[in-house]
Amino acid sequence: MTRLWTANRQLIRAINRSTVLNIVKADGPISRTEIGRLSGLSPATVSEITADLIAEGLIYEKAAGDSTGGRPPILLDLNHDAAYVIGLKLAERQISAALTDIEATILCTLTAPVSGLNSVERAIEELTGVIERVIAESSVPRQRITGVGIGLAGVIDAERGLCRYSPILGWRDVPLEQLLEERIDIPVRIDNDVNTLAMAEKWFGAGQGVDDFLVVTVGRGVGLGIVVNGQFYRGTRGGGGEFGHTVMDPHGPLCDCGKQGCLEAYVSDPALVRSAREAVLQGKLVGVDPDELTVEQITELAQVGNETLHAIFAQAGRVLGLGIANLINVFNPALIIISGEGVRAGDLLFGPMREAVEEHTFDGLGDDTEIFIQEWGDEAWAWGAASLVLQEIYKSPIHARVPEVSLSTSAS
Ligand SMILES: [Zn+2]
Repeated sequence: MTRLWTANRQLIRAINRSTVLNIVKADGPISRTEIGRLSGLSPATVSEITADLIAEGLIYEKAAGDSTGGRPPILLDLNHDAAYVIGLKLAERQISAALTDIEATILCTLTAPVSGLNSVERAIEELTGVIERVIAESSVPRQRITGVGIGLAGVIDAERGLCRYSPILGWRDVPLEQLLEERIDIPVRIDNDVNTLAMAEKWFGAGQGVDDFLVVTVGRGVGLGIVVNGQFYRGTRGGGGEFGHTVMDPHGPLCDCGKQGCLEAYVSDPALVRSAREAVLQGKLVGVDPDELTVEQITELAQVGNETLHAIFAQAGRVLGLGIANLINVFNPALIIISGEGVRAGDLLFGPMREAVEEHTFDGLGDDTEIFIQEWGDEAWAWGAASLVLQEIYKSPIHARVPEVSLSTSAS
C-alpha cells in the first residue's frame, strides 16, 4: 500500500508540475492566484510547485507593472535562459541547424551542404561538425545545451533512437541516437522529420491547445503527422503517416517508392516539375529549358499568369484536396496544418485543394476542420527538430517516453 501510495503521489506531483509549467508557458507572466484558478489546484499546491520550478530555474518571479495601489502582485514567467537546444534536419545533401531557447525561439541558424551520407560514419562526422559550429556561432556555453534533436525522413523508431529505414540515405537499422550521443556527449533524440514538425506545432505553434490535429507537409514529398487525444500516433513500427503513398490511382504516374499513382506522384515538387517538363515536350509550355526547370521557376511563372502551369498546380491541388478529404473522413480533426516548402505555391495549390475538400468530405465533416496554411521558413525543419528535446521539459509524465515513476518504499 505504501509503495503504491508513494508512486501515485510522485506521479500526481509530476502531472501538477507539468500543468503549472504549461500554464506559465501559455499565459505568463501570471500570478499564483490565476494559476490556481486555471489549473483548479489548491493555493498550497500551486505555491509548492512554483517554488520547485523556481528552484529548478525554469520560471522566475517578476515584479508586476503599474499597480493601482496596494501591494503589487508578483507574477511568474518562463525563464528563457533555462534551456538551450539544437535542432537538426538531416537531408540527403544538406544539414540545417537551429539553436533555440526554452520557448523554441531561434537564436542562431546554420545550413551546411554535405555529401556521402550513405556512410553512417560520415554522417556522424558531418553532424558533429555542424553542432560544434552552431554552438561556437551562438556563443551559448556548450555545457548549457540540454539536448540535440534530429529530424530525418523515413521510418524512425523514436523510442529506441533507431533509424529503421531511410530511403534517401540508404540506411537500415542505424542506432543514430546512440552513435551521436557517444560522440558529442550531449543527449540526442531522433524522430521522423514530419513528426518533429507536428511536435513543434503542438508545443509552440498553431496546434497549441488542440487535442486532435494533423500536420500535412508538401514539398520534396508529402508527409503526415498525427496527433490524437493530445498524443502522437506513430503506428506499430513508427511507419504510420505515409500519407504521400496513399494510392489515388493504381494506374497513375510512377512514384519514387516504385509503385504507381501515389498521392506524392501528383503533388510533390518533383511531380510538378515532371508535369511541366511534359508540357514543354508537348509544346504547351514555351520559352523555358525543359532540362533546367525548377519548382521555384514554375511556381513564379504560374503566379504571373502562365495558364498551362496554372492548370498543373490546380490539378495537383485537387488531388491533394481528395487526399485531405479522406483524412478528414477518417480522423474528423479540429485542425489540419499545412506546412513544408510547397506552401510557396499559395492559392495556386490551395484554392483547388479547398474546393476538392469541400466536395469530397462526408456529410459536413469538413465544417468541423479548420485548414491552416503555415507560413514557411527555411529554418522550420530545424525548429521542429529542436522541439523534440524541448517537449520533454513540458510534457506530462502520463505521456512520457520513459516512465518517470519508480515504485519506492521510502516516503518522501
Ligand atoms: Zn509512393
